Amino acid sequence: MTASSPHAETVVDLGAVRHNVSLLAARATGAAVMCVVKADGYGHGAVPVGRAAVEAGASWLGTCSLREALDLRAAGLSVRLFSWLDVPELDFTPGIEADIDLGVSSLGELARVDAAATRAGKRARVHLKIDTGLSRNGCPPAGWPALAEAAATARGVEVVAIWSHLACADELGHASIDAQAKLFAEAYDAARAAGLDPIRHLANSAATLTRPDLHFDLVRPGIAMYGLNPVPTDDDLRPVMTFRSTVVLTKPLAAGESVSYGHTWTAQEDTTLALVPAGYADGVPRTLSGRMDVWLGGKRRPVVGRVCMDQLVVNVGNEDVPQVGDEVVLFGSGRSGEPTAREWADKLGTIDYEIVTSMYRPRVHRRYV
Ligand code: PLP
Repeated sequence: MTASSPHAETVVDLGAVRHNVSLLAARATGAAVMCVVKADGYGHGAVPVGRAAVEAGASWLGTCSLREALDLRAAGLSVRLFSWLDVPELDFTPGIEADIDLGVSSLGELARVDAAATRAGKRARVHLKIDTGLSRNGCPPAGWPALAEAAATARGVEVVAIWSHLACADELGHASIDAQAKLFAEAYDAARAAGLDPIRHLANSAATLTRPDLHFDLVRPGIAMYGLNPVPTDDDLRPVMTFRSTVVLTKPLAAGESVSYGHTWTAQEDTTLALVPAGYADGVPRTLSGRMDVWLGGKRRPVVGRVCMDQLVVNVGNEDVPQVGDEVVLFGSGRSGEPTAREWADKLGTIDYEIVTSMYRPRVHRRYV
């Protein structure tokens, strides 16, 4: 133990990343794989998981911001990098110099990339984005022919791809999927008519796993590489993140005594408590107070009373009382029966994406295995 021993840590299984990416690469027959490592690799650490993804067959990594892509390049990742959403004042020049492919959604953005290419003294590789129905970034269909034509003639720009993003790919058979695919096909025809010869990419994890007809040249899975399956397939994806802590204290509690702020829980019989140094500042939602279990000593045990900023309390009963220093799993793969990120998400009315991504916080140590 040292002064910097973590109270709570996420353990990131890079072998599981490699396994998941190999599985995705095998499913993406004929298409290359771009692993999405935005938001610091969905909370897992973009550089280590990016490296693991490349080892397992990804030939591209995708990020939201150019800053994220530049960080990957600076860390020595030499694969194709693609970033797609930035603020209007951003200067694209460093991205073009670092060979990062750029998403472009509008004529204004195209002009800014073209100008940056002149400054960089080299052509920018651009992926034109069509908004086929998600209604976020991307060029609306009405403006698409003009964008494709302008991009075809912009001297600083080489259009390498057209792309779009699906709104409901995780709802199998949702009518919007085919509607978006149809608009995407029309956008491709218009791009060809403008003299472009781009590759195409559309599929996120859900479409990679369920819609081989939408793989085109490149798929863009994110959540599945972290072992969380957004669709009910029986693919052997392995959850990558375990959130763990340790028991720092055990103590008896007499019947009638209460626990934590607000005394929301009172022991009905004599019992034993275990104190765990992880709280809402470490990513344990306070709204799970009294509604969550931890995995401790080979079984589930309930968290009682309110989750505090730095600690929570587990009722461990009087049998198999844990020892100080025993491991406490807050969520993990679920393979042994421990809680999972999906279980937290279901209780919180959200998705497991948000659970793992929110583990990107300074006080929680990250360890790679
Ligand atoms: N492509 C884009 C543009 C995204 O924003 C995302 C994630 O939100 C992905 C791909 C990956 O999606 P998923 O994590 O559902 O596979």
